[in-house]
Amino acid sequence: MSDDAEKELMLRAANRGRSLEETASEILSAPTKWWACNCGGLERSAADPGSPVQFDEETNEYHLVMKADSFESRTLIRYCCFCGGRAPASKRRQLFEPVSGEEIARLQGIFNGIHTFEEAALSLGPPDRDVPGGVAQAEIDGSRAISSRYVVYSKISDKTDVALTDSGDGEVAISYIGKPKRSA
Ligand SMILES: [Zn+2]
Repeated sequence: MSDDAEKELMLRAANRGRSLEETASEILSAPTKWWACNCGGLERSAADPGSPVQFDEETNEYHLVMKADSFESRTLIRYCCFCGGRAPASKRRQLFEPVSGEEIARLQGIFNGIHTFEEAALSLGPPDRDVPGGVAQAEIDGSRAISSRYVVYSKISDKTDVALTDSGDGEVAISYIGKPKRSA
């Protein structure tokens, strides 16, 4: 634990007249209340071209970026790897149209009963995008990447695209991809 983190812990314990152990276990069981990182470790890592940590200005997020052959994976860093503090708040949500519960319920109604690409095409017409080659998904053990058919319906909702991915067992998995906010 960094000096700052320890100081914060001591301060919390002192302020509330509780033992260090009590405060520590409370904080550890509620990690979302953890203090914000201010050690600068993520910033320094992102500035180092040899480090896998990258900062994305648009979303205000730090990512762990792993590259192998033609694949790149990005993992969102929620907590600083150096001091354990919270990484800066993401602005990702602000970049996309909000989708209401009613809209999701409406879309679920439309896709209720659609289990295959053929059923989707019969009921909704051809998709707006049929991604050539599909999407690559790594197998759980990482041994190889498999390619799955992936199509997008983008005109059903003005808030979200609806993506259908071949789930491998003959059925499609349905997911929602929020539309980027149109800049005014
Ligand atoms: Zn930190």
